[in-house]
Amino acid sequence: MKNNSPIIIRGLPVSKGIAIGQCRVLEHGQNIIEKQQIEKKNIPKELRRLEKALKTTLTDLKKIKRNISPSIKKNIGLFLDTHMLLIKDDEFILNIKGKISSKLYSSEWSLYDEYLSIKSSFDDMEDDYIKQRIEDVSHVVKMILKNLHNKKSESKQTFTNMNNYIVVTDDLSPADVLLAHESKCIGLISEFGGRSSHSSILTRSLELPSIVSVKHALSLFKNDDLLIVDGNEGLIIINPDKQCKNHYVQLQAKFIQNKKILSNVLKKENMTLDKEKIEIMANLELPQELKIISKKNIDGIGLFRTEYLYTDRKDFPSESEQYSAYKKIVEKMDGKPVIFRTLDIGSDKEIPENIKTGAIARNPALGLRGIRYSLNNKSIFINQIKAILRSGVFGNVKIMLPMITTFSEIKKAFDVINKAKNELLEKKIKFNKNVEIGIMVEVPSCAILANKFASHVDFFSIGTNDLVQYTLAIDRVDDEVNYLYNPLNSAVLNLIKTVIDAGIKNNIPVALCGEMAGDINYTKLLLGLGLKSFSMHPSAIPEIKNIIINSNLPDLKIAVKKIIDNDDTNEKIQLVQRLNNTHSK
Ligand code: PEP
Ligand code: MG
Repeated sequence: MKNNSPIIIRGLPVSKGIAIGQCRVLEHGQNIIEKQQIEKKNIPKELRRLEKALKTTLTDLKKIKRNISPSIKKNIGLFLDTHMLLIKDDEFILNIKGKISSKLYSSEWSLYDEYLSIKSSFDDMEDDYIKQRIEDVSHVVKMILKNLHNKKSESKQTFTNMNNYIVVTDDLSPADVLLAHESKCIGLISEFGGRSSHSSILTRSLELPSIVSVKHALSLFKNDDLLIVDGNEGLIIINPDKQCKNHYVQLQAKFIQNKKILSNVLKKENMTLDKEKIEIMANLELPQELKIISKKNIDGIGLFRTEYLYTDRKDFPSESEQYSAYKKIVEKMDGKPVIFRTLDIGSDKEIPENIKTGAIARNPALGLRGIRYSLNNKSIFINQIKAILRSGVFGNVKIMLPMITTFSEIKKAFDVINKAKNELLEKKIKFNKNVEIGIMVEVPSCAILANKFASHVDFFSIGTNDLVQYTLAIDRVDDEVNYLYNPLNSAVLNLIKTVIDAGIKNNIPVALCGEMAGDINYTKLLLGLGLKSFSMHPSAIPEIKNIIINSNLPDLKIAVKKIIDNDDTNEKIQLVQRLNNTHSK
């Protein structure tokens, strides 16, 4: 390989950082399945082999689920649940067994043939959610095939020897990412995937340099090739020459060094050059993350996603269980605000209960999620509200309602909150009577009428992950329409501006807690739009803070007005780039 000249390949960067190491290609079994027939007398044996492989796969999945660290359990637990349900699906299994018994296909071919027929029926469908489900079927089929081959799951087997390797594969499930990380793999490349897929989100939270959407990756790379993964730019270099490798070794050192230097800004006050205080808050998914944020000198928790208490279990958490969990968090924040978002279940955040009862909507992002679910399940909702109100005795607690679409939802939610207060009063249980109540602005109807919604609530928090999805009518987890997912789209920017302006006009605080708040490309733009509060994933805080404290708001406001007024997306992107490259001193 040494004589080969370097090859540069481009993909979609989803997790920053630079990795340099040898390549391990993970070919998934299903591509090499051959049509094989069995003798009639071997049918029982073949069925037993299938049963065994199904059982082992189920055990493998359970084991993976048991062993995942709590900090990522929420992210991948649901996927594993879905995969386990598929293995137990009667129709799926009956069809495979039918092919063994009546067509005398081998187990492998029966399974693969069933997969192909499911796939072809899905291919014709337009429904993105269903398209996404075929990925689940594919992940499960791959695992069963590995077990049929009498091998342990290939991903497990291979990932256990991935120390210092860069893994190239066709598709990554969240479980693959987790296993790769645990086996000390240093970089990931995959043929498929998009920025907002759950696997990609996981690579970011694990800080594993990753590039997806690398067409024909499996045939481009060979085991032991020396690779450079530039997760910042989306570049992969195969067999770099000495000069190129040295260049990237230096870049890598610089990247690590930069991270260290950046952490110095954490001690500084969150203030722009023109002495405007900007709030920097953290988004939390799990209480364990409190340890990380204690070092970040933040102004509070701008979004606490409470779903972790509800997922990965069969029952619902009681009021007292929630109360003690919330109380711990509030106490640790020592008087700084903690904004509890009430349950935002539904869409891609399914709870086992819904999956079990078949309540998966055809179009889940537009279905019974967020406040809709809570108002439909008031006993669950009131328990959560009581727990939050009670935790308010120990600090500065706020309630945030997700997915608000209409005024009447706010009114109904307030009725539940008042009922919760009355019940606590009656039982003489201590709670904070003055807990502020705000809403996530993430549905266009709410953003458009933000000026009116503002008079009903104490604060707004803009959820751009969903606001972009709903404004542009694209499923945020579907990589086929990812190219449309653009926060710089004029409609999106205008909605964000409408919400910020409504907050200013009505004198209520406006924060932004979507991914956009933690993306350095949009920090100056958002400051120029008048945003005063950013809430983001903790690891993004140093970079964002560094930009904020080096910004001058009056300059930014003038520049951003020009950007907003420009309707040409390409020009707008250029203007934003120019803005990001100028220093505000
Ligand atoms: C959002 O929609 O921007 C948001 C922060 O909420 P989530 O990502 O949990 O839907
Ligand atoms: Mg949301």
